[in-house]
Amino acid sequence: MVTLTTEVLVIGGGATGAGVAWDASLRGLDVILVDRLDLAEGTSGRFHGLLHSGGRYVVKDPPAARECIDENRILRRVAADCIEDTGGFFVTTPWDDPDYADGFVQGCLDSDVDCQEIPAAQAMREEPRLNPAISRAFRVPDANIDVWKAVWALAHGAQQRGARILPYHEVTGIRREADRICGARVRDVRAGEDIEIEARVTVNACGAWAHRVAALAGIEGVRVLPSRGIMVAMNHRLVNTVVNRCQMPTDGDIIVPIRTVSVIGTTDHHTDDPDDQTVPQAEVDQMLDEGEKLVPGFRQARALRVWTGVRPLFEDAKASDTETRDVTRAHALLDHRERDDVDAFVTITGGKLTTFRLMAQQAVDAVCDMLGESRPCTTITQPLPGSESGEHYQLGERLQRKEAQLTEAQLICECELVPRAKLEEAITRTGSTNLDDIRRQLRLGMGPCQGGFCIYRAAGIMHGLDALSAEQADASLLAFLQERWKGVWPVLYGDQQRQMRFDEWIFHGVLDVDHLPGGPLAAGQVSGADPGTAAAEAAA
Ligand SMILES: Cc1cc2nc3c(=O)[nH]c(=O)nc-3n(C[C@H](O)[C@H](O)[C@H](O)COP(=O)(O)OP(=O)(O)OC[C@H]3O[C@@H](n4cnc5c(N)ncnc54)[C@H](O)[C@@H]3O)c2cc1C
Repeated sequence: MVTLTTEVLVIGGGATGAGVAWDASLRGLDVILVDRLDLAEGTSGRFHGLLHSGGRYVVKDPPAARECIDENRILRRVAADCIEDTGGFFVTTPWDDPDYADGFVQGCLDSDVDCQEIPAAQAMREEPRLNPAISRAFRVPDANIDVWKAVWALAHGAQQRGARILPYHEVTGIRREADRICGARVRDVRAGEDIEIEARVTVNACGAWAHRVAALAGIEGVRVLPSRGIMVAMNHRLVNTVVNRCQMPTDGDIIVPIRTVSVIGTTDHHTDDPDDQTVPQAEVDQMLDEGEKLVPGFRQARALRVWTGVRPLFEDAKASDTETRDVTRAHALLDHRERDDVDAFVTITGGKLTTFRLMAQQAVDAVCDMLGESRPCTTITQPLPGSESGEHYQLGERLQRKEAQLTEAQLICECELVPRAKLEEAITRTGSTNLDDIRRQLRLGMGPCQGGFCIYRAAGIMHGLDALSAEQADASLLAFLQERWKGVWPVLYGDQQRQMRFDEWIFHGVLDVDHLPGGPLAAGQVSGADPGTAAAEAAA
């Protein structure tokens, strides 16, 4: 069995784990990061897209609000290229308690969240689809953040400093010698091999799965209460500003415009399983109804797809035994040396995507403390690769690039303007044979046709580059279609239903995907189906 040795082993390749790898590498530590799947395929890749200003927490949880605005300001500097500066509105609709707005203003003042009241008419001028019945409007520095870009920038930055980044490596056991953790046993799921990793310190950054990894180390009582939420992406930028209802945060009260879509969310239901991807039809309807309150006609717009993420809510059983604390949405750093008498092991979980940098900083501070070394954190000032210019992402950048070379660049994905050269470069660079991994890198297949036109081209190009055999290309194509289908089924109505019928003709009528060597698609997977049955199917 292969044995790798490192100073710091990071388990979990979401924003937090990638942030830990980046921070530790910047401090000159040798790092290995492993994830059981691709990077950002856990909660980070399934979130709402909001870089919080803190406005949502100013009344309910002021410390969280302050943390968000501090990190918002830092990330705007160091991860500029991953952020689109949409700005945000909090608006009072007829369904909201009008008194909340005054408390909101005071909360913003107390938590240092920049907030400016503007006339409702001005908000309407800037966002003409907003409900004309809004009575008050406030501007805050909300934004959107492209998590895949951010996580891969963190990983590449760490790699450039010598870190080894190992997606598709699942931790199956933790190496423990007496009261000391000294690494992990890892399964390379693509190669089907086990490897041993020896580490001086191990960081558990497994989010909603953190309790399971802690249990592998023989540490009980790390209580992560997974909370499932769904989001619905609409086909257009119905708004270009993040729009929140000015009320105590609740289900479906925020629309985030990100890239070519706008996303409404989210729900909040306890689940026992962090892998729970259930999409109850009632929750989809609830999101669409709530969308109507902010943007009348929301239900008539085309819904593109639905997905689920699971929040890592942390409740420290040890603390609550004595302190009866409520479940918190703040993050938690567990130094298991102090908490459980187990040395060289740290858990960092909970929190928000917006606070990943701070979480990583605190985790690496603890690592340095365990190593007995003083190495200052520099992630507050060091830009991520690609963000050195300090310029934010602008919607329309891709179109601008395409228009600059109209005839040269062959487009593979028309919806997301992905040129062939970009696709080939990503296939070669990642070495991935999984079209869904490529999707996360390039947004391939994320537009209205959900891969209808681009994905068979991409599979063919992969095969042409000898990345995949014909059978593997077929299997990869089918896996992609099945994954997309899961998200489309619950919103099959109107134009999206017509689109999926069209896709069905492409894949069944032209490509006969039922008879590809990679295996037949299950009945109804590229066809119109009764949305009422979708919840059951998605839940299965
Ligand atoms: C519905 C929803 C909407 C949200 N919206 C927002 C938002 O708009 N803005 C915001 O700031 N925050 C938002 N959040 C919160 C935010 O998404 C999370 O707090 C954050 O993504 C957690 O990141 P993480 O890296 O800690 O966890 P994850 O991203 O879940 O990373 C944990 C990783 O551990 C890996 N792992 C698990 N077990 C193993 C193992 N045995 N071996 C190896 N790897 C393993 C998983 O594959 C996963 O990649 C939202 C959360 C939800 C659920």
